[in-house]
Amino acid sequence: MASYKHTAALPDTVLRVKALESLLTEKGLIDPAALDELIDTYENRIGPRNGAQVVARAWADPEYKKRLLDDGTSAILELGFSGVQGEDMVIVENTPSVHNMIVCTLCSCYPWPVLGLPPVWFKSAPYRSRAVIDPRGVLKEFGVELDPDIEIRVWDSTAETRYMVLPLQPEGTDGMSEDELADIVQRDSMIGTAVVTAP
Ligand code: FE
Repeated sequence: MASYKHTAALPDTVLRVKALESLLTEKGLIDPAALDELIDTYENRIGPRNGAQVVARAWADPEYKKRLLDDGTSAILELGFSGVQGEDMVIVENTPSVHNMIVCTLCSCYPWPVLGLPPVWFKSAPYRSRAVIDPRGVLKEFGVELDPDIEIRVWDSTAETRYMVLPLQPEGTDGMSEDELADIVQRDSMIGTAVVTAP
């Protein structure tokens, strides 16, 4: 049986949220546009910035990277990020010969403390099924064409384990500061549906 944590959005819960949102809007207590803005902020800006800091630290500090790959949860906590849906983090490292990609085939398990809220496509049925069957094809749709000899590994997040990808550091960025590095790390590169490119 799926646990509570795995079934992130029960139809009943969704209905209740919708009902609450309608009621609050009707009473003039919330502005739906402001709510969309708030969700967008967590989905695209605040959330993934945490993960970007983790990636930048790992690129800049080999000792930190070692700890991150060894015990993701505590290395992430070193930077102050922890919480619900991030209790058991596993970091998978991209190398010149291996590209990692994450999915939750069952629902939408996602590492909230480092990536924020999952994007809509991550929760969609086509991504969930096709990421496993045809990862190369899915990557192509995201604009990522990998060399045929690069192995693609797909990691299925569960209630127990949440994955995050440590992307490959782009060439020519060795001299950049940690803050500058964090700025070039976008959300999708930590899901594995994008690669990081030098600015
Ligand atoms: Fe899930």
